[in-house]
Amino acid sequence: MNAPGTLREVSPVAVGPSDVAALDLIRRWIAFDTTSRESNLALIEWTRAYLEAHGALTTLTFDDERRKANLFATLPARDGNVIEGGIVLSGHTDVVPVDGQPWTSDPFTVAVRDDRLYGRGVTDMKSFSAVGLSFVPEFLRRGLRKPLHFALSYDEEVGCIGVRRLIDDLVARGVRPAGCIVGEPTGMELVVAHKGKRAWRCRVRGFEAHSSLTPHGVNAVQIACEIVAYIAARARDFRDAGQRDEAYDVPYSTSHVGVIRGGTALNIVPRDCSFDFEIRHLPFDDPQAFIADVRAFASRFLPEMKAVDAHTFIEFDPLSTLPGFDTHDGSSITTLGHACNATEDVGKVSFGTEASLFHAASVPTIICGPGHIAQAHQPNEWVELAQIARCESFMRRLADHLAA
Ligand SMILES: [Zn+2]
Repeated sequence: MNAPGTLREVSPVAVGPSDVAALDLIRRWIAFDTTSRESNLALIEWTRAYLEAHGALTTLTFDDERRKANLFATLPARDGNVIEGGIVLSGHTDVVPVDGQPWTSDPFTVAVRDDRLYGRGVTDMKSFSAVGLSFVPEFLRRGLRKPLHFALSYDEEVGCIGVRRLIDDLVARGVRPAGCIVGEPTGMELVVAHKGKRAWRCRVRGFEAHSSLTPHGVNAVQIACEIVAYIAARARDFRDAGQRDEAYDVPYSTSHVGVIRGGTALNIVPRDCSFDFEIRHLPFDDPQAFIADVRAFASRFLPEMKAVDAHTFIEFDPLSTLPGFDTHDGSSITTLGHACNATEDVGKVSFGTEASLFHAASVPTIICGPGHIAQAHQPNEWVELAQIARCESFMRRLADHLAA
């Protein structure tokens, strides 16, 4: 998950470590350093052994180097069904780096202080998966009318990469879940929609000259900055004149430039500049129209650039695409979510998750998980024990609903 949200705070209930049955499993999961650049195989193998010991059927799908894997595991229904219907509990296994962050305790050892758990991933998002796994014996004791699946992915934090292979594998094997719950941190509120996201790199190639002879050169930094300013102007248009959906934390589409690189010395007209930008769009704003506008604006500079040097250019490389999703209220997965979290409210958020990829594969999906996105990716990442307790209540009601 990658942006702050503003979901409602829930009034805290006094909960201590002894009230949290999943604490052992959370500790184990946090102890695996699964920073996205590292292998996640130790965690995956541990979890696979745990699930198989409870009779789950498991499938791994790997990255190209076989350093990382997704784990898809199925607890069969009482009648042996492992394919048709049922619910997926989905979580990513990777976490963001702790490099350079001022942690006051070891990020990979859960610390319990002041009714909170501290550790990398306690909010984003190992606690949800660990709570789900801790309920496996309970799900089996109650019996399942339909299969229950766990989808545990790699490389979510670097662009929802791993889960795409997991979903392709499900589709290929004909596994057809009736719904999916993604446990990204929503404060245990039900989230039924998030924005889509597209990202690009713009590369401007100018022409070097001594800075006393600027008309003989093409200044790549300045042209890039004009395009950056246009993207900022489009962001103001979205804010001031665009369509809105007030159910979102940020109720309009946003665009932004996050990285820029260019130039080598003040006395050289810079040859190269590149910058990375994105749009996070509501369902009714077309990201293709946005990038077409940016390209059209950029193309105005080309005649003047080419007149100085034929090798100059402005190019746009796509970096990533994540669709938005919107599960309509009244769908069976939303009804199940309401029943499990015991509220009637729904929210919509601006950050992207794996939910949209399940949704795109025709699996109706909601997002509901412990902790708040504001604590994600932070030093001393924490989650309230009360949130873990709410997640456990959610799983208990889910077991009721799935019971044979
Ligand atoms: Zn996350």
